[in-house]
Amino acid sequence: MTTDLIVCGLGPAGRALAHRALAQGLAVTAVDPVPGRRWTATYAAWADDLPGWIAPAALAATVRRPIAWGTRRFEIDRPYVVFDGAALQDSLDVSGARVIADRAVEISRPRGRPGGTESVRLSSGQVLTARRVIDARGVGRSPRRAEQTAYGLLVPEERWDEPLFMDWRPDNGADPGEAPSFLYAIPLGGNTFLLEETCLAGRPAVPGARLRQRLLTRLRHRGVELTGTERVEHVRFPVEGGRPGARRFGAAGALLHPASGYSVAASLAAADALATGSSLRPISAQAVHALRTAGLRSLLALDPADAPRFFDAFFGLPPALQRAYLSGRTDVGGTATAMTTLFRALPRRLRGTLAAATVGLPQRHRRPATATVPPHR
Ligand SMILES: Cc1cc2nc3c(=O)[nH]c(=O)nc-3n(C[C@H](O)[C@H](O)[C@H](O)COP(=O)(O)OP(=O)(O)OC[C@H]3O[C@@H](n4cnc5c(N)ncnc54)[C@H](O)[C@@H]3O)c2cc1C
Repeated sequence: MTTDLIVCGLGPAGRALAHRALAQGLAVTAVDPVPGRRWTATYAAWADDLPGWIAPAALAATVRRPIAWGTRRFEIDRPYVVFDGAALQDSLDVSGARVIADRAVEISRPRGRPGGTESVRLSSGQVLTARRVIDARGVGRSPRRAEQTAYGLLVPEERWDEPLFMDWRPDNGADPGEAPSFLYAIPLGGNTFLLEETCLAGRPAVPGARLRQRLLTRLRHRGVELTGTERVEHVRFPVEGGRPGARRFGAAGALLHPASGYSVAASLAAADALATGSSLRPISAQAVHALRTAGLRSLLALDPADAPRFFDAFFGLPPALQRAYLSGRTDVGGTATAMTTLFRALPRRLRGTLAAATVGLPQRHRRPATATVPPHR
């Protein structure tokens, strides 16, 4: 039986696509090895990136004016929302789809026959056919790929109540030559804050144990008491490896911003268009992806001592340029202007390092971030 749409992968992207395709009356089949796996990651997004159909119940908290720190304090005039992961998953209802618990091992498309039937072979040997097959299987980890890593602790609001989008103040004990990390502090609702030491991108990735050490150092400096019983969030995912493509979606389709790690809002926002058959890979999206990848190369060259100045320049950009860089998936002009304005605002020494990194010249060796990890507290 040929269906309208097969979605391979039921992460945030695939599930959003299946949900919106069902809402538009399409017959949908979804394939995932563990379709019922609950989402435990803390997903967040800029509120203005979200489509209007998001269920209010999927949001756990909103930060009206998030704070960022480089060497100085910035207040960002852009509301930021934190999802309740389980509620978001439930709100992306796919109960009208045929859901198969299996792995998609091969996706075939008829060459040179637009409109021909596409097919998926599952690990069971079963072959499914559809008018369209979308690959939303995410991106696998590989030592070749830069990864975002973070180590977070959940604390009650009595011990922390200041939302911080990024805090690059250098009180985390990171050594020169290591990949830098910042403190991310967001409310989760229910009187709980997530305090997370985050490395935007590392190749090799900064291990969670090292980030834990940096977080504990930072919190000790700030007089935050821990009991040792706090719940922990571990974050690790590749920020590169996706490829823009007409039949790929989410991280697999390069909707993940390689220099920020965000993709959930972009996938939610693009789900309707893809469900109706629009292309998500106009030339402009591919050009922006190339610029963002150059931005990733700059990040990978940053030293902990340079990071606060770099982010002074970023958060000093006009809000429209910050937004263009973070969210303008097809905004080539805005992305390029944001990058060149940022570059001009950097100290001269940093400009040289980042220009070399951006065009892909070899960088000084960055030693792997390893260290003896003290016990919790
Ligand atoms: C802890 C954590 C916190 C994060 N926080 C944020 C955040 O705040 N904001 C944000 O935008 N991003 C965040 N991210 C990044 C986030 O992972 C990705 O942006 C997002 O999960 C990508 O969604 P996706 O659906 O494209 O891919 P994935 O989430 O990787 O989903 C892929 C799906 O495909 C399935 N699959 C794999 N192989 C197959 C196969 N062979 N056949 C069928 N199915 C298959 C998998 O089981 C999975 O369900 C976070 C990541 C982590 C780990």
